[in-house]
Amino acid sequence: MADSKSFSVPVVFADRFFMSERSLAEISSLGGFAWADAQDHLDLADKLAGSESVRIIVSEYIHIDASVLERTPGLKGVIAYGAGYDHIDLDVAARRGVLVCNCRGENAQAVAEMTFGLLLCLLRKIHLSDRYIREGHWKRTESAAFPAWVMGGELKGKTLGIIGLGQIGRRVAQIARGFDMKVLAYDLFAQSQEDVPIEGTALEDLISRADIVTLHVPLTPRTEKMIDARTLAAMKPKALLVNTSRGKVIDEPVLLKALEEKRIGGAALDVFASEPISANHPLTKLENLVLSPHIGAMTQEAGDRLSDAVSRQVRDILSGRIPECLITA
Ligand code: NAD
Repeated sequence: MADSKSFSVPVVFADRFFMSERSLAEISSLGGFAWADAQDHLDLADKLAGSESVRIIVSEYIHIDASVLERTPGLKGVIAYGAGYDHIDLDVAARRGVLVCNCRGENAQAVAEMTFGLLLCLLRKIHLSDRYIREGHWKRTESAAFPAWVMGGELKGKTLGIIGLGQIGRRVAQIARGFDMKVLAYDLFAQSQEDVPIEGTALEDLISRADIVTLHVPLTPRTEKMIDARTLAAMKPKALLVNTSRGKVIDEPVLLKALEEKRIGGAALDVFASEPISANHPLTKLENLVLSPHIGAMTQEAGDRLSDAVSRQVRDILSGRIPECLITA
């Protein structure tokens, strides 16, 4: 039943993502699954055409819009594999009575730790140091002094500005405590949380005071290009920007220019306005930038938890129950 392209199964995985053997076995016992391996939403819609048995689509990145939803008359639910669900058309799903849920929280620790991985890499030039050795520049001779860029900075005592204090943002705040950082946060909706000392503040205040700004908001019409020319101009001249949320939260060409002109200290990006980016993308030419290919959530532990969350919600939806991470438009 696995890998069938006939879609005579209740569950279709739109794209390729990690699912544990245990969770796949569980879904098999509930009627089975198929990997669509769709290139995009139109390809998925074509592959789903006429499929009466599909009840649930699980998608990490493939857009689930009207073109897909209208091809699956028996659909009951869409599960976003991960925390972000900006690729799912909530309005069309609601109109068609299709439940939408995500797997919020399951990958938060992985993304929070990755945020610090990127940040430390940027601060201590680990990406440049690795290349330095591999290219044979580390020599013990009197004339071979280290280049100036090796001098890094410390996190202790720095002010971290967290934009979006949800599952990931809160964990970032907890980790920051271990580094003795001061934490500011801006969130439109989150309640204050007593377990971590965080100063809630306005976006403008956070941007102007933070030594490091880290983004943990979902992509919505309100957060798209939240970091624009005005915000970047208000950042401290040596401030660092980390983005593990969604690429479109930043006005990317404007950030590129700010980094080229060294108007901020540097940036680390796990996500991009359009993915994947190519090796000759202008961002790849910058040394004050650390890049990773949208792997913030990719740990074995998070993969196992996400798989479990998918299979639990598949069971819920197929049994007519409300899934634990229901999203309402
Ligand atoms: P979450 O829903 O728990 O937290 C998001 C927070 O942002 C919430 O507290 C919400 O109130 C706040 N928010 C929403 N709109 C806002 C606005 N306009 N201004 C200020 N705050 C606003 O989500 P999460 O699990 O913390 O994940 C955050 C985002 O990270 C996801 O939506 C996803 O896009 C991204 N993500 C990326 C990866 C990766 O691999 N890089 C993995 C997981 C999640």
